[in-house]
Amino acid sequence: MRNKRGSCPHYNGEPSTAPATPHCAECGSTSSLRVCVTCGHVGCCESQKGHNTAHAKAAGHPIIKSLPLGEHSFTWCYTCNSYV
Ligand SMILES: [Zn+2]
Ligand SMILES: [Zn+2]
Ligand SMILES: [Zn+2]
Repeated sequence: MRNKRGSCPHYNGEPSTAPATPHCAECGSTSSLRVCVTCGHVGCCESQKGHNTAHAKAAGHPIIKSLPLGEHSFTWCYTCNSYV
């Protein structure tokens, strides 16, 4: 399910909005965080409580990046259900 970069119509390559908080906005987790590209919401990953997934669905913001941002960060689209 790993698509080539650029195949996602929901993401144009813009950098992420700065993370709004240094921890998950819902539960305070500080590991394996994801930031919403659209609004900067920070949530924990699927292997924790999945708050980034919950935000993506509730807010309609499908694109997240893994934290910390940098060369090892990945971008994921929840609508395409693939890396972008
Ligand atoms: Zn997409
Ligand atoms: Zn959380
Ligand atoms: Zn958002």
